[in-house]
Amino acid sequence: MDKRNAALTALVVDDSRTIRELVSAMLEAQGIGCVEQAEDGVSAFRAIDRLEKPVDLLFCDLAMPGVDGVETLRGLAARNIQAGVVLLSGVDPKLIKTVADMAEQLGLRVLGSVAKPFREEQIAEVVAQYHRICAPKRGRPALTITGPELDAAIDDNRIEVFYQPKVRVADSQVAGVEALVRMRHPAYGLIQPDAFIDIAEETSKRITRLTLAVLGKAIAQAGEWRRSGLDLGLAVNVSTQALRRLDLPDMVEDMASKAGVDHTSITMELTESQVMGTAEILHILSRFRLRNFKLSIDDFGTGHSSLARLRRLPFTELKIDRSFVDGASEDADLQSILTSSIELGKRLRMTVVAEGVERWADWRLLERLGVDQIQGYIASLPIAASDIPGFVKRWTERAA
Ligand code: C2E
Ligand code: CA
Ligand code: CA
Repeated sequence: MDKRNAALTALVVDDSRTIRELVSAMLEAQGIGCVEQAEDGVSAFRAIDRLEKPVDLLFCDLAMPGVDGVETLRGLAARNIQAGVVLLSGVDPKLIKTVADMAEQLGLRVLGSVAKPFREEQIAEVVAQYHRICAPKRGRPALTITGPELDAAIDDNRIEVFYQPKVRVADSQVAGVEALVRMRHPAYGLIQPDAFIDIAEETSKRITRLTLAVLGKAIAQAGEWRRSGLDLGLAVNVSTQALRRLDLPDMVEDMASKAGVDHTSITMELTESQVMGTAEILHILSRFRLRNFKLSIDDFGTGHSSLARLRRLPFTELKIDRSFVDGASEDADLQSILTSSIELGKRLRMTVVAEGVERWADWRLLERLGVDQIQGYIASLPIAASDIPGFVKRWTERAA
């Protein structure tokens, strides 16, 4: 649990008392300092006027008798609250898009939606999301995990993997997912990677064990999806420290064949700053490519790669860092950076992905500039494996 949660105020607006109670209990379990409930829009306005602090997190049902969810959001925005909004119930993604657009214009941010049956992890994830995008940026995460704590989590199988969908722009279909590691802490619940990746990277043994744990789970999961008829590409973040292990390509090959997953559907993501290193890395990357795995250059734009070197590296995908993506539709400089990065990627015959897409205006810009795939809160937060089939189904129906 994040210590910052104690300072937050949440308001749960739903006409069903059962849902209000359930979501409130889960928020309290996350350590949220103040949780208020309202059964409809009008009582929500009253609650806001009564509260001494602004509401930080607003959980709102869209379909309510009387003042509906959309009107409620307008009324709350008019009271100048700058909350992160979470939509309750299985709302259709198209509607979420529309509401997200509207909320943005009103100065609210849609953090995502949670569908029945509500689960603690979903609530924890949207709260974490709030800290990532709404709360003022801080230098250090509030919680840090020690090396031995991380080792114990790996030993006890408390490493979990969340998945964030990547959407193809051309036909709006889900092209694949990126695996993102989480750690389950006995007292604090689900911990985000910011709190432990740096510690993991401190020793090559630790980062290698963590990387193997994530690869093992994610590849097995991709195999399960495949057997249930869901053919999704899988991207996994691999640190170059872990790549130094010479038998890694063989190990990944072994995992893939056990899970029945095609090599061409697995992508290794490496950050730009890490791959500009040594010849040794080039050697291992080539061995992955020889086995038909795909390679993505992550956080592109932050690592000063030389064009000459980029040309020689066997990458199949270029992933533009979110710092150049978010807000680009309103910033001419970002647009120039995007235009040239996209052109570079295309010329080098790479799939171009934009990460961190949060707004529709940016999506439309990226589409116009020829980006192949989009990843970001606008499509989905990172979600549990069990939520992926439902997401794909809703997204596919929406695109049809
Ligand atoms: P990344 O590889 O750049 O992963 C994307 C991060 O951006 C994820 O954070 C994701 O939740 C976040 N994100 C996605 N869409 C949006 C958006 O629209 N807006 C904003 N503001 N953020 C968005 P997460 O899961 O906290 O991961 C953070 C970083 O931790 C990752 O950045 C990656 O560098 C590292 N990481 C995660 N999983 C692993 C892993 O298994 N191995 C290694 N070595 N590193 C990992
Ligand atoms: Ca990544
Ligand atoms: Ca990235």
